[in-house]
Amino acid sequence: MGQRFSKTSCVHIRIRTHRLLIFIRPTAPSAPKLTKTQDFFIMNKPKYNPEMQLSENFRLKEFIESPTAERLGIDNRPDWEAVINLRNLCREVLQPLRDHEGKPIHINSGYRCPELNEAVHGVGDSQHLRGEAADIHLPDVETGRRWYKYIVDNLDFDQMLFEYRRTGVRWLHLSCRRDRTHNRHMAIPNFPAR
Ligand SMILES: [Zn+2]
Repeated sequence: MGQRFSKTSCVHIRIRTHRLLIFIRPTAPSAPKLTKTQDFFIMNKPKYNPEMQLSENFRLKEFIESPTAERLGIDNRPDWEAVINLRNLCREVLQPLRDHEGKPIHINSGYRCPELNEAVHGVGDSQHLRGEAADIHLPDVETGRRWYKYIVDNLDFDQMLFEYRRTGVRWLHLSCRRDRTHNRHMAIPNFPAR
């Protein structure tokens, strides 16, 4: 998977006998406006590191590792835009929830590249594609209700709903956008029955 911020074009120009190399670093057309901190984060990235700490208790690899990707040989490494979005999701929603609970929270699914999203039958415009969403494991129904209420009452989020598989597996889907003005606070109370 390409790394969006490091595309460099190279132009050769011959002036008399001297050869000049001019490097042009274009701005990605879809590059978002970043805050100073986010800009710093991009410019100073050492290299891609799955061990990277996104917040106190969450590491990048928890959001990119996928048994399906491994089985199908899909490269699920995110671009930096998605990493920054994941970090935002951790700081705004997952870490505050984890601090409130005082227990580890297990991520079922975080970032998905288009190939992986298709393999797990995710919706076409899924926020998982941009690193804006994560599915968290529900230990039991009561915990799910408690988390739901805490998030609705206290946190800034975009969308929250319970998702189900026919096999009975369920989880809580949470999303958050970096631009707070676009967070819809859309909570769907489709609680598990048991
Ligand atoms: Zn989801």
